[in-house]
Amino acid sequence: MAAHEADVIIVGAGISGLIAARTVLAAGLTPLILEADERVGGRILTEEVLPGLPVEIGAQWIGDTHHRMFALADELGVETYPQYDEGETSYELAGAPVLRQNDFHRRFGNELTELTKVLRLLDELAAEVPPEAPWRAPRAEEWDAITAGAWYDGQGLSPVARTLLEICTVGILAVPTVEVSFLHLLFTIQTCGVTAELFAESEGGAQTTRFVGGTAEIPNRLAALVESHLVLDAPVQEIEHTADSVTVRCRGGRVARGRRVIVAISPMLAGRIMYDPPLSGYRDQLTQRMPNSAAMKAFFVYDEPFWRTDGLNGQLISDVGPARMSNDTCLPGDDHGVILMFLEGEQARTHGHWSQEERRAALTAELVRHYGDKAARPVAYVDGEWGSRQWTRGCYNANCGPLVWTTYGSALAEPIGVIHWASTDTATQWSAYMEGAVEAGERAAREVIEALS
Ligand SMILES: Cc1cc2nc3c(=O)[nH]c(=O)nc-3n(C[C@H](O)[C@H](O)[C@H](O)COP(=O)(O)OP(=O)(O)OC[C@H]3O[C@@H](n4cnc5c(N)ncnc54)[C@H](O)[C@@H]3O)c2cc1C
Repeated sequence: MAAHEADVIIVGAGISGLIAARTVLAAGLTPLILEADERVGGRILTEEVLPGLPVEIGAQWIGDTHHRMFALADELGVETYPQYDEGETSYELAGAPVLRQNDFHRRFGNELTELTKVLRLLDELAAEVPPEAPWRAPRAEEWDAITAGAWYDGQGLSPVARTLLEICTVGILAVPTVEVSFLHLLFTIQTCGVTAELFAESEGGAQTTRFVGGTAEIPNRLAALVESHLVLDAPVQEIEHTADSVTVRCRGGRVARGRRVIVAISPMLAGRIMYDPPLSGYRDQLTQRMPNSAAMKAFFVYDEPFWRTDGLNGQLISDVGPARMSNDTCLPGDDHGVILMFLEGEQARTHGHWSQEERRAALTAELVRHYGDKAARPVAYVDGEWGSRQWTRGCYNANCGPLVWTTYGSALAEPIGVIHWASTDTATQWSAYMEGAVEAGERAAREVIEALS
């Protein structure tokens, strides 16, 4: 097979790789994107659960401060609409019966005040963490030596406040807080602004806005712009590199040669590629220590969104589970009611192993507890497990346990010779989100353009 030639080889056609390709193309360089899968989009995956009714198995929302994503949607002609957010949330916590938001707030007002105080403190501490170099935070070593869970445990919180904090945090990181460095948690908060933006569904939050036609419209339309530079079904296995060239080999025998390569996949997957000559132990130790987290989404479709007429917003918070949280994800202009249940961290790990029928039954029982018997009669169901997808191996993103940032942090995005690193996991704003993927793709492309100009 003759080798493909290009200026810049890009590994991965997620949003980060696609943005990198578009940016280097605009600078007059030739990109070649090698994508392992038979589709573009990576962690963005829109699927029809019923004819004409798409749901987001992967990324779904953007928030008010996702400026790059708003600009991109605008440029690509993808319209947006607001997330439904009317009515009360349903709570099931601390052995209390299922309570509606107003009753929950009355009963657990003190605990909610405790929670607010801790979130404020987290915001103050996070403000001390430079997102481009968390290891340079004044107290980096102290914070990186403990887990987020240990720090939470030390705040003297009531069990309800501690449980709520765990649920909120696992909802973002998708791993139990005992596995994550406290510095990593503060870094995550700092890359997103403040905790209110991370956790809120309403104004200012990360989950305010959805895309007409589905999130996949974004990578699909980006891919159309670079179509002649894109090869699907081309899993990169080896990157041979010299001072001024790369030779990239794919499974199946395809070979591509270029002057630079941008690896736009998560650090853990980047560590599974073979490099010749091998990369430093410093870089490899990092990729051994940035595992992807675990999350699943399960969608229940009903004839109508009956919870809305009961004054509920479709969001639940539960320490019973299996899902800790849910969302109303109905489509505007469609009569169906759609509820999305999140399985994150331990729940995704355990229930990801169950059969789909078992999972569905356990989640249905939970919905019935919150929304009554009507919830037992969905007309369709679909769920998506990401750990077994060969080209993702877990979501939402890469996390750092204790001592990773302070020991290996500078190896994350620093180019190594002609090799550059993208993917949302390397971003400094909204890392783990699509917004971060765009930032990282643009940054890696800029590095390459500067190096080659
Ligand atoms: C269930 C779920 C829900 C999410 N919800 C949201 C949300 O609501 N809002 C939000 O902003 N973000 C959300 N995210 C995160 C968001 O999807 C990611 O931040 C973003 O899509 C990452 O893009 P990326 O290009 O950095 O990486 P990826 O999307 O992972 O792209 C990497 C690409 O590289 C390919 N690849 C991997 N290995 C190789 C190889 N060896 N050779 C060639 N190609 C390879 C993969 O197939 C993939 O296409 C969610 C993610 C998931 C999974």
